[in-house]
Amino acid sequence: MRLSEVFSSRPFNISIEIFPPKTAAGDEALRKHMQSLAAHEPAFMSCTYGAGGSTRDRTINWCQEIQNDFQRTAMAHFTCVGSTREELVSWLDAASAAGIHNIMALRGDPPEGQENFTAIEGGLSYANELVELIRSHSAEFGIGVAGYPEKHLEAPNMDVDLQNLKRKVEAGGDAIFTQLFFVNDHFLRFRDACNSLGISIPIVPGIMPITDFARIQRITAMCGTDFPADLASKLEAVKDDKEAQFKIGVEFAIEQCRQLRDAGVPGIHFYALNKSQACQEIIAAL
Ligand SMILES: Cc1cc2nc3c(=O)[nH]c(=O)nc-3n(C[C@H](O)[C@H](O)[C@H](O)COP(=O)(O)OP(=O)(O)OC[C@H]3O[C@@H](n4cnc5c(N)ncnc54)[C@H](O)[C@@H]3O)c2cc1C
Repeated sequence: MRLSEVFSSRPFNISIEIFPPKTAAGDEALRKHMQSLAAHEPAFMSCTYGAGGSTRDRTINWCQEIQNDFQRTAMAHFTCVGSTREELVSWLDAASAAGIHNIMALRGDPPEGQENFTAIEGGLSYANELVELIRSHSAEFGIGVAGYPEKHLEAPNMDVDLQNLKRKVEAGGDAIFTQLFFVNDHFLRFRDACNSLGISIPIVPGIMPITDFARIQRITAMCGTDFPADLASKLEAVKDDKEAQFKIGVEFAIEQCRQLRDAGVPGIHFYALNKSQACQEIIAAL
């Protein structure tokens, strides 16, 4: 099923994002978690594309597993990093041959050691160019694009970032999946701003359940995400108790998702971090 069909067939769609593990033991562990996650029948599952294009084949292989072994629709993430146009097209052909119908089209972060993103010779500079390339290559793909309720770190301001998001939508994006956030008001303001720019494709909030305070602090610092002070102090009070952190994190995510669902979002995209328990509890509660 393509993204546009997913969102037109049901008003509320759960999707789950995984990443390709680096070891065979990691693959096996992920398969067990996938079994539990797929049992909740998410509308689709997506698999990330490693930094610097390090998972070209593994992303496709995992998407095939999602579809063939777990019977869920897959979306393969794909970035411009380190590839020429020709290489990008040949990956698209491989994805198509593997039966993948949805691509999450991203620019990607600058490769390690580079402060600013610079396109390689013969490569692309921005995600809107990748969306154009995918659309011009084949009409068969559903295309997801990234949105940033609190602004992309490199953008000088929100207005510029929104105009750049609009380029991706106009180039042919079918749905926007957002960066993780913990303050729903940021998402709702972002959605209003998108709507006033005439963006009418589904805007799906990205939610990362907190299961480990130290890890989430590192991640939020990296993407510049606002972290509510009261939640931080609750977690700080149990910083040596992982079980208590997990419980607080899951309760917070359930409430956050309920409020978003009540605000009419077309779905929730969970950053599962290759684990199942937190997502299972949240989805069951929803
Ligand atoms: C849901 C989601 C999934 C992700 N999955 C992955 C993944 O699998 N692998 C991975 O490596 N990374 C992933 N990322 C991270 C992403 O690659 C980074 O956030 C990256 O820095 C920006 O990618 P983008 O597609 O948003 O880029 P762009 O949309 O190209 O935006 C990048 C910056 O350039 C600006 N800009 C955009 N277009 C133009 C233009 N035409 N002219 C001038 N400025 C412009 C934007 O305002 C922004 O500041 C994901 C992010 C999200 C939200």
